[in-house]
Amino acid sequence: MWTSEECAKYFLCLEEEVFDFKCSAGLFFDVNRQICDFKLNVDNCDITAETVIPKPLLAEANCPEKNQLGCADGTCLPQDYFCDGSQDCTDGSDEAYCDVEHDPNGATPCNSSSCLLPDCFCSKDGTRIPGNLHPSQVPQMILLTFDDAINDENWELYSQIMFPSELQNPNGCPISATFFVSHQYNNYHYTQKLWNSGHEIAVHSITHRGPEEWWSYNATIEDWFDEMVGQANILNRFAKIKMEDIRGMRVPFLRVGWNRQFLMMKEFGFVYDSSMTVPFSNPPLWPYTLDHKMPHTCTGKPFLNKVDRNKQVCPSRPYPGLWEIPLNQLEVSDFTCAMVDSCPPNLSGEDVYKMLMHNFKRHYLSNRAPYGLYFHSTWFRNPDYLSAFQKFVRDIRKQPDVWFVTNWQAIQWIRKPKTLDQIPRFEPWNCRRRFEKIDTACSIPNVCKLHSRVFQQDRYLYTCSECPQKYPWIRNEFGLE
Ligand SMILES: [Zn+2]
Repeated sequence: MWTSEECAKYFLCLEEEVFDFKCSAGLFFDVNRQICDFKLNVDNCDITAETVIPKPLLAEANCPEKNQLGCADGTCLPQDYFCDGSQDCTDGSDEAYCDVEHDPNGATPCNSSSCLLPDCFCSKDGTRIPGNLHPSQVPQMILLTFDDAINDENWELYSQIMFPSELQNPNGCPISATFFVSHQYNNYHYTQKLWNSGHEIAVHSITHRGPEEWWSYNATIEDWFDEMVGQANILNRFAKIKMEDIRGMRVPFLRVGWNRQFLMMKEFGFVYDSSMTVPFSNPPLWPYTLDHKMPHTCTGKPFLNKVDRNKQVCPSRPYPGLWEIPLNQLEVSDFTCAMVDSCPPNLSGEDVYKMLMHNFKRHYLSNRAPYGLYFHSTWFRNPDYLSAFQKFVRDIRKQPDVWFVTNWQAIQWIRKPKTLDQIPRFEPWNCRRRFEKIDTACSIPNVCKLHSRVFQQDRYLYTCSECPQKYPWIRNEFGLE
């Protein structure tokens, strides 16, 4: 007989190394489904080898009723039960083959005669320019994004070094970027200031918890709400960011959460996700809506029996009107990388400059898909990298058709494409927005010393709002007693 202790243990093999994991207290590891679940739901703890879940028969079962499909053992169930996230076939076959290629309720391929701007955008291979403009008429958008907490570790970089006032877009507006903010150690006073100066603030979860695969495999829809809507609430309360200005999200570690993540996004009203990486592609891909099947393969095929847990788990269902800003990869000699800091670590400053420029040209000289540069602030601690980046920015700024915009500004352009000569009158890219006094960051924030039950210690929260009673956290995002 196996003990509870043993049933909670599981192992992951990544790149030929074995890692130990343990389910949270009270949960067992389900060998077939490869997730932690309540003890009652797990009856396969004694299985020592991973059993192969059989393929469902689907239409081949010749079910008597319309809208029914067959499990692997021939049992007929309503089509809706397949790939809905809960197991209905006793053999588990209804939930075992649920990537975009196998989900019987999956999104259909792009249909460009019915998928029309501004609310729907797709193309067969994802490389088509919105509005079918000629590349020479398309502004080359640069999307700078920064993930994780904003605080004293990176404030100088974000407030002065990266965005000096002389660095402007062709219309004279300051250049802007997108910040995907996670809660722990985040300074909400600084966050409010960045929002006030025209940057976009988006969501990157409250806990940023590990293990990484939790986001793809274990997080329930409730967890997705708690993490992402919770963080939107925190940003709204403590950085005073208007709810309607919180539009985007990025999953921690880019661990896309299959349909569960996107169901939450649709319910809450998020406008876009920016977590899916595209296999290296020349030319690169434009953002698209999830009305139809994604125009690229998900980097990994996790639902096929051999689970590669190092890969992404993309949504299989359609989500009309929801945008994906996919992460095109950078090419650096023989490598490709999605986040700039996941590129090979041994590059010199000169290599970095060449890499930024080479990939810029792959966009600028082809279909001008937005060029995303995705950072964590620590990457800039290498002074050679910082100056290589600054030189790159100065050099491309000389082009009159290069624009540094936020993700939301990019989506607005895609929704209503404008040629270069129309852009001076394109409202979403001007910088005339004035913040009301009540929305403007205070000069001296409240410094709240708060006890955190979770961390069993005090944490500081910087905010222009009133101090809460407890350190805000998941399921208590307003920090109530
Ligand atoms: Zn992160």
